[in-house]
Order: sequence, then C-alpha cells, then structure tokens
Amino acid sequence: MAYAINDSCISCGACAPECPVDAISQGDAQYVINEDTCIDCGSCAGVCPVGAPEQQ
Ligand code: SF4
Ligand code: SF4
Repeated sequence: MAYAINDSCISCGACAPECPVDAISQGDAQYVINEDTCIDCGSCAGVCPVGAPEQQ
C-alpha cells in the first residue's frame, strides 16, 4: 500500500518535509510520491491543505 497525490495538489511543498522516508518530491506539474518508498504513514495527508494525498 502507498499514498498517491491526486490532481488537486497546488505544489505548496508542505508535505515533503513531513515524510519520514523522503518519498515525496516535486514533479513537473505537482508533487509526487514514490510508491516503492512510501510506508503508508499518512503524515503527508495530515498536513496537506487540499487533501491531495490519497491512500491507494
Ligand atoms: Fe511519506 Fe507517509 Fe506520505 Fe508515504 S504516507 S509519502 S511515507 S508521509
Ligand atoms: Fe501538494 Fe498537498 Fe503536498 Fe502541498 S501538501 S505539495 S498541495 S500534496
């Protein structure tokens, strides 16, 4: 299981420093989660102002 960032991401950057395994990076259009690294902790979803990280 992993989280993924949906299209509502506004690239605010709040989630990336909250990730304990550094799975979040800035992509071309928005931030993205490396699903192979994500440990499904939910921290990114907790800080996102628009609810973009969703559990898959
Ligand atoms: Fe990182 Fe946790 Fe979000 Fe996965 S769920 S990307 S481990 S903060
Ligand atoms: Fe995108 Fe939410 Fe992360 Fe901000 S906190 S970069 S809106 S996913």
